[in-house]
Amino acid sequence: MVELKFISNSLAKKHSCGMFHPESAHRIEVMEEWILSPSSENISYEILDESASKEDILVTHTTDHYELIERSQNQMGHFYFDADTAANNYTFEAARQAVAVGKKAVWESDRNMSIFALVRPPGHHATRTSPGGFCIFNNIAIASELALQQKKYQRIAIIDFDQHFGNGTAYILEETPEILYISTHAAPGLGYPGCGFTEEVGRGDGRGYNIPIPLDYRSNEADLKIVFEQLIYPIIFQFKPDFLAISAGFDGYERDPIGVLGVTSEGFSTIGMLIHHIASELKIPFANFLEGGYNIQMLPELLSSYISPLIHPDQDYNNPSEYLEPNNQTILTIERSKKILNDFWEL
Ligand SMILES: [Zn+2]
Repeated sequence: MVELKFISNSLAKKHSCGMFHPESAHRIEVMEEWILSPSSENISYEILDESASKEDILVTHTTDHYELIERSQNQMGHFYFDADTAANNYTFEAARQAVAVGKKAVWESDRNMSIFALVRPPGHHATRTSPGGFCIFNNIAIASELALQQKKYQRIAIIDFDQHFGNGTAYILEETPEILYISTHAAPGLGYPGCGFTEEVGRGDGRGYNIPIPLDYRSNEADLKIVFEQLIYPIIFQFKPDFLAISAGFDGYERDPIGVLGVTSEGFSTIGMLIHHIASELKIPFANFLEGGYNIQMLPELLSSYISPLIHPDQDYNNPSEYLEPNNQTILTIERSKKILNDFWEL
């Protein structure tokens, strides 16, 4: 049994991308309320009031990127980086805090206690050179690159189950064979960020270490389950990471206001079980980073569904993927991925 510690950044609820924006402070409010409720066991909660150093952030991002965010704090009202991504005067500090929480999550998670970085702003769309897709600094990529650079870990696997391809994380790490990035996401033709094709397997020394797995409209936990069993498990067990970092996004939920996938609420337990299996087989610590998820009303339930198997892996979970079937497109994608990835992995 693992104890789960949620850590939020003290300015998480002060950062804003604008009124009526789906990536709102309410997301943290409702999850925080659930975490602090008596029904949640083996869970602790901490609020961190600490900012990452410029030096840490520049391990991943360019100085221009950093200074652009820094300048945004002096603007009146909202400062728009693009149509979807904006900052208010708290954003720079909130984003630096989110990086600090992420670093702590990688440094302090161990086999008995796993940290869930419950942060805003999220990170996986931020590239080395620019914010985007509601993201400012790439929390998971920075923590992973820092861990590698400071020799905390030698081989890190990142699994990103947010419904959007983590283009930022993928492209930041595309030449880094020490960090394996695996993403399941809605196919590029279905919307933002419009990339994450099976062919995008990395560059240079990093070829074979970027694994994008695009899914068709309304794909659900049955599709995720077969993708884990046929692609993710064999690759990750051959890679043998010493740490597992997870970009946890809940917008794959079937009733997410901006989502197109079809994962049920119970389906997040399936995802939790699949993730838990990896950490337990490899006997490695893991940490979660909050990315998307916009159904405010359902977020506590989705979070609870996902983390239950991480805390109580031996309990019986109602597993809908036992009666849901993967769709044909998923089977075709697995075949196509295997052909491409056979050059790098035994599949
Ligand atoms: Zn997303």
